[in-house]
Amino acid sequence: MKKVVKFGGSSLASAKQFQKVAEIVKSDRERRYVVPSAPGKRHMHDTKVTDMLYECYELAEQDKSYSRQLKQIRLRYEEIITGLGLSLSLDEEFAEIDAKFAAKAGRDYASSRGEYLNGIIMAHYFDFPFVDAAEVVRFDENGAFLPDKTNELLRARMEELEYAVLPGFYGAKEDGTVVTFSRGGSDITGSILARAVRADVYENWTDVSGFLIADPRIIDRPEVIETITYRELRELAYMGATVLHEESIFPVRKEGIPINIRNTNSPEDKGTWIVESTCQKPKYTITGIAGKKGFCSINIEKDMMNSEVGFGRRVLQVFEENGISFEHMPSGIDTLTVFVHLDEFIEKEQKVVAGLHRLTDPDSIDIESDLALIAVVGRGMRSTRGTAGRIFSALAHANVNVKMIDQGSSELNIIIGVSDNDFEAAIRAIYDIFVIAQI
Ligand code: ASP
Repeated sequence: MKKVVKFGGSSLASAKQFQKVAEIVKSDRERRYVVPSAPGKRHMHDTKVTDMLYECYELAEQDKSYSRQLKQIRLRYEEIITGLGLSLSLDEEFAEIDAKFAAKAGRDYASSRGEYLNGIIMAHYFDFPFVDAAEVVRFDENGAFLPDKTNELLRARMEELEYAVLPGFYGAKEDGTVVTFSRGGSDITGSILARAVRADVYENWTDVSGFLIADPRIIDRPEVIETITYRELRELAYMGATVLHEESIFPVRKEGIPINIRNTNSPEDKGTWIVESTCQKPKYTITGIAGKKGFCSINIEKDMMNSEVGFGRRVLQVFEENGISFEHMPSGIDTLTVFVHLDEFIEKEQKVVAGLHRLTDPDSIDIESDLALIAVVGRGMRSTRGTAGRIFSALAHANVNVKMIDQGSSELNIIIGVSDNDFEAAIRAIYDIFVIAQI
């Protein structure tokens, strides 16, 4: 067995956290390739090293003094080194970083140093070889990630190494210019490394014991999802449930490698398994609930709409011409409703209304804002009768008015539109009926 393990920023924020990580890695010899993030927050009001680096570099770019900020960053690392009792000097590293900041080496270079330095400390502490991601994670001249080239480079390098530390979040162009992924991108590095070494599992260690059935800000201590498929995860992530960087799914999914979300602060918990497909029955009919506020619906009415060929296309053309993507489009006999994100729509509202009048000649257009969409997701819904019925009776009992229903033909999810004010009550009602009532 071969495991790739990635540790998030909060797992590596202090010497104490580093010690937990060492125990996790050393307790299983199959955990061979480790991807660290930069040190994250040690407590709620702390600042992530990545954010400190951005701020520091900003000063350098404005030709202002940044030495105090750079010193603060160095202190974060020195605290870890001292706490671990290591004899490791970062003098040379910081001299180079200072020189490159002065020479304005770029924002990506600056922020990548968070992972780079943490990787050096980790490799030293674990006595694993250090591989600089700039040598093996490749981007093209325009800064676009090159998956196949990276796979080739990474595979060749890792074949020579039984154990290794590869810092997350960055890579480089052919000429050595450092490029980073978007924020949270160490997850992607872990995933592309798992693909390259054909790992049996990609363990992603963070500070929660897995993916939760619902948002803990709404549900008090929600249960952890034991197993979720990539498709279910995609539905939930799209609706705002985040644990993993979205782009980190594709490389491992391609190779059929499962992801196991684990908790550094509670390593005995099994966490969540994210898999391509499974015959494991979900514990509950639903796998998860997620949702977002801030939608708006545009309701178009026109007599005999249904017999007018091309009506739907003309409606969508107006949204397309205004650069607005639509979320859902439920329809009735003489009505059609388009759901969009309020913030994408609000500034173009009157242009859209005028466009709709011009292209579709409706009887009326009615706009409603402050809507929320909730996705109830679960592969178990396919084989269970009455799921929709249970959702709607639970919502009725909670006095929630349902404004829209949309069930995809995959029967993997049901999307429900409610008023923003009913959002939390609706999620609680659905959680109660499917989880609490089953316990
Ligand atoms: N350190 C980077 C960030 O804060 C990348 C990561 O942690 O995954 O976004």
